[in-house]
Amino acid sequence: MKINENYKKLAQSYLFSTIAKKVNEFSKNNPDKKIIRLGIGDVTKPLCKSTVDAMAAAVQEMGTPEGFHGYGPEQGYDFLKEKIQNYYLKRNVKLELDEIFISDGAKSDLGNILDLFSKDNTVLIPDPVYPVYVDTNTMQDRKIIFLEANQANDFLPMPDDNIKADIVYLCSPNNPTGAVYNKEQLKKWVDWALKNKAVILFDAAYECFIGDDNLPRSIFEIEGARDCAIEFCSFSKTAGFTGTRCGYTIVVKNLVFDEMSLNKMWLRRQTTKFNGVPYIVQRGAEAVFSEKGQVEIKENIDYYKRNAFVIAETLKKHNIWFTGGIHSPYIWMQCPNNMTSWEFFDFLLENVAVVGTPGSGFGKNGEGFFRLTAFGTYEGTKEAMERFDTILS
Ligand code: PLP
Repeated sequence: MKINENYKKLAQSYLFSTIAKKVNEFSKNNPDKKIIRLGIGDVTKPLCKSTVDAMAAAVQEMGTPEGFHGYGPEQGYDFLKEKIQNYYLKRNVKLELDEIFISDGAKSDLGNILDLFSKDNTVLIPDPVYPVYVDTNTMQDRKIIFLEANQANDFLPMPDDNIKADIVYLCSPNNPTGAVYNKEQLKKWVDWALKNKAVILFDAAYECFIGDDNLPRSIFEIEGARDCAIEFCSFSKTAGFTGTRCGYTIVVKNLVFDEMSLNKMWLRRQTTKFNGVPYIVQRGAEAVFSEKGQVEIKENIDYYKRNAFVIAETLKKHNIWFTGGIHSPYIWMQCPNNMTSWEFFDFLLENVAVVGTPGSGFGKNGEGFFRLTAFGTYEGTKEAMERFDTILS
């Protein structure tokens, strides 16, 4: 037996384990200090009532002979796909039901989609980046070209004619930088993809944080995207499903390469390797789209956005350069006084007991930057910013 040697090439990620080690040590040596964590990427607000009620009802249903559901359609139940279809229609994006595939979250599909593509393809991945894109391609030994995201381009890298690649990952609103592409910028990417016969893998996991109707929440709001893009979305950040697990992937039928339909290939892949998301969970996700569900999730999203606002205002006050924080739960700040990401991490922890995430953990271009998240409590975020005031003044 020979193992997949590509796993040897995976960079070990010490980011979160190193953070945990440093925080534990600090807490042991300073038992009286209250640590505030602004590093978490997980949501903290509980599921909304509509979702809980719908799941509870579905559990009861499952315990009756007439309401029992066994294996469901691998690509998801129509009742949920119809709600997603309507959600897109509100932004004039027309999708057919069989272009929507329900999944157990965006992470799985972002990795699994690579089953459809040859290992000979070259992929273009922004740096800094959500590490899943890099690792899943490394596991399959695909050639990776990094796309430079930096202060000069506001961490929104754009295509140019010198870049040749077959697959590009775009994430907007972005993790870790919180930066958001506008329609003109995404149009340039779509045009580049069409010209190069490339595919855009568009990660819209944070679309619910967009508060400006002029900003695109979906790549399919851009003309031409139906001929070059696949979109990944999730209920994780939208409705607190990080532990409940549900998302969806849009593979439209226009995508035909080498006489093969990516939509048909993805259906074949999913029906072969995936047995669908639990009925109970899909009923919970469906409830997110009800009138009451929409109000409830908005309350939670607004709560996080208020935290982001508090952070952003503090940084503005101290003239610290940052991206994100308006249409995103992430704030990506430049470390003051030319500190490295880890120097700033230690400085914050030791002086004000605030924890964030060193930007260098997301790629080489993250060095000198730092990620703060809005997923904490309002009180904690406010207190952390008061502590920032004391050290940044
Ligand atoms: N995409 C991005 C950019 C993320 O930051 C995350 C999670 O943090 C995911 C996808 C994963 O989402 P899910 O929970 O749906 O797997």
